[in-house]
Amino acid sequence: MVYDAIIIGTGVSGLSCAIKLKELGKSCLVLEKGSLTTAKACGGGITNKALSLLALLDINTSDFLDHDAKIVTKTKQFFSDGSIKVYDYTKQSTAIKYAIGIKRQSFDSVLVKRAMKAGVEIIRDYHVESIFYDSFVHVDDFAGKTLVYATGGVWGNQQDNLNSTKTLGMSINIEAEMNLTDNVFYFYIDDAYYGGYAWVFPNGTNRWNIGVWQKGDFRSLKENFEQFYANTLSNKVTRFISKESPKSGYICCGNAEEYLKKDNVYYVGECARFASDQNGEGIYQAVLSGIKAATDICNNS
Ligand SMILES: Cc1cc2nc3c(=O)[nH]c(=O)nc-3n(C[C@H](O)[C@H](O)[C@H](O)COP(=O)(O)OP(=O)(O)OC[C@H]3O[C@@H](n4cnc5c(N)ncnc54)[C@H](O)[C@@H]3O)c2cc1C
Repeated sequence: MVYDAIIIGTGVSGLSCAIKLKELGKSCLVLEKGSLTTAKACGGGITNKALSLLALLDINTSDFLDHDAKIVTKTKQFFSDGSIKVYDYTKQSTAIKYAIGIKRQSFDSVLVKRAMKAGVEIIRDYHVESIFYDSFVHVDDFAGKTLVYATGGVWGNQQDNLNSTKTLGMSINIEAEMNLTDNVFYFYIDDAYYGGYAWVFPNGTNRWNIGVWQKGDFRSLKENFEQFYANTLSNKVTRFISKESPKSGYICCGNAEEYLKKDNVYYVGECARFASDQNGEGIYQAVLSGIKAATDICNNS
């Protein structure tokens, strides 16, 4: 069988592309090197515009609430000069007037469940290492009319000649009672983060993601993260319950395109350097590029 598309990666962009392809009546195979819901470094902040796109794939707020997600109605930005800025989702003209805070693993499991329901064929623990091209694309014995790279923000892959910004984030999920409101994304902006910020996001009942995102001097990230984490524990946590291991990852920012394409090969999500260099958001862009690439594949087949 020759698939309409072989997709590498079951992250946000790969699964969005696969779900859209199935909806358009196209066949696809998704190959994932890890398990389907490996815990990834992520704040789990899903903005209103990301939710609007996900709704187009029939992935809705109730799916996230079933996984103990939190509805977030405001962001609060704290600046080092003491000023505070509040952004109110409820006052936006958008159809969806809130964001969602969810554990990234739970978010991924919602996407995987939706992909399964759509009949997407997925093979996990399959590390794609070599690809052969003739009139089709071949990955071992699998053949496709197109190939979609959805391999995420790994610096050093074939797209590094792009005009892009390498940024780095580190975060941890904790379970704790805090003297913070669990319907707000909290941002702490400071020069120490080189144009980035630290954050505390609610992502479940008494569950929070705490992290730091930096655009420069990556050697100081771990120390900045540890300091911010310790400050948060001492100033905001009223009852600590448990924590997971911290995780870090690149956020590859800067490409204004919706996806990249060369002949019958597409690049979507962060491997196209598609995250925002303004705020590090990458999920909205990953869903958008997945959907747009699927539509282009369909239009050209
Ligand atoms: C610390 C941190 C916090 C963040 N917080 C937020 C946030 O709150 N909100 C937000 O919108 N964005 C956030 N982001 C960014 C967001 O997580 C990413 O932009 C998004 O996950 C990118 O999706 P993707 O599909 O491009 O890649 P991914 O979701 O990373 O998926 C890539 C997949 O490809 C697989 N893969 C890679 N190579 C191969 C191979 N050779 N063979 C087979 N499979 C392969 C990987 O295993 C992985 O599953 C954060 C990022 C970091 C690092």
